[in-house]
Amino acid sequence: ATSIFGELEVPAPIEVFALTAACNEDTHPHKVNLGVGAYRTEEGKPWVLPVVHSAENAMANDPTLNHEYLPVKGSPEYCKSVVQLLLGSDSKAISDGRAGAIQALGGTGALRLGADFLHTLLKYNVFYTSSPTWGNHLGVFKHAGFTDSRQYKYWDNEKRCLDFEGLKADLMAAPENAVIVLHGVAHNPTGMDPTQDQWKEIAAIIKERKLFPFIDLAYQGFATGSLEADSWVPRYFEKEGFEFFCAQSFSKNFGLYNERVGALTIVSANAAALQKILANLEILVRRTWSNPPSHGARVVATILNNPSLFNEWNQHIQTMANRVLLMRDLLFKKLKALGTPGKWDHITKQTGMFSYTGLSPNQVNYLVKEYHIYLLKSGRINMCGITTKNVDYVATAIHEAVTKI
Ligand code: PLP
Repeated sequence: ATSIFGELEVPAPIEVFALTAACNEDTHPHKVNLGVGAYRTEEGKPWVLPVVHSAENAMANDPTLNHEYLPVKGSPEYCKSVVQLLLGSDSKAISDGRAGAIQALGGTGALRLGADFLHTLLKYNVFYTSSPTWGNHLGVFKHAGFTDSRQYKYWDNEKRCLDFEGLKADLMAAPENAVIVLHGVAHNPTGMDPTQDQWKEIAAIIKERKLFPFIDLAYQGFATGSLEADSWVPRYFEKEGFEFFCAQSFSKNFGLYNERVGALTIVSANAAALQKILANLEILVRRTWSNPPSHGARVVATILNNPSLFNEWNQHIQTMANRVLLMRDLLFKKLKALGTPGKWDHITKQTGMFSYTGLSPNQVNYLVKEYHIYLLKSGRINMCGITTKNVDYVATAIHEAVTKI
């Protein structure tokens, strides 16, 4: 029979998931997945954080828990704790009652909710993302109705560093009320963050040009191993008196990828404005997913509110961050030892889970075909895919790709 859907076009597969599927099907004994955006242990396995496991065990045995709907805005305890985690418990915006959060479906849900709000209620229509940026930013904002998508310069591929002058020039030229999506820490995909002094300049331009900062914080803790250090950017924007949104994700730092735990956190100029924003967001949530899921948020809130669990979680974050740093160092040293042409110190200068290697699409192809090493066409690799056991193999493959292609 013919279908009313028969004329639909099939969109291109989502690269990062297609890559993982291809890698899973590959039977080569030395295959390596450097594409996936998730933490992997030294054994190349996903990691259920032991502290998450304990919290879940306690929940499983708690007879008082039920499966009633959560409030539309999310678990109040969770929302309160994530704002504190972001801004610090001594935050002035918190004590003034002008900082708050609404629970969202991961960082993605928070971005979408914030974008919906800004477009629908404030009629904002221009948004800027870094060039390059996380693959989904564009889609999320466009789907929320933004029609004017622009980019600010970010990565200088030749020099393999931040194009700070280009970045500033692009922001200076942005029209009033443009939404500026900023990676608050551990830039995805480049792994290259501005320095604190550079952030100060960025903030000054945003203030002067009356732009709207929307901070995406998906990797708090992953860059340095310190939750505090990794939330320097939102804390600085708060101290500078900005009104801003922040999309918090707990997928990576809690390893809760499939639980969809995130929050849209808001810092506003006064308590009355915050209440208006939250009330409007509540209606948007009601019309979108109605009520958030409870499990992941409860795990996060439990850990954030128990000093001993919180301490344990901090140690897990350090374990993850340190493993990534170690792999950066190892890969860099191996490439240097091999005498691989080009400069590779960007690998150790970059932070967070990812490294933008600078490998060309043809070199990437070569790695996939000849070595069964899977990575995004952009040359982005997930450092966690590297282990002490496969680093020689990966370095040799990169060396060969760079030398031959
Ligand atoms: N923002 C950035 C920069 C990311 O890298 C990711 C995940 O890869 C997200 C947001 C989305 O995170 P979540 O899985 O919590 O939706």
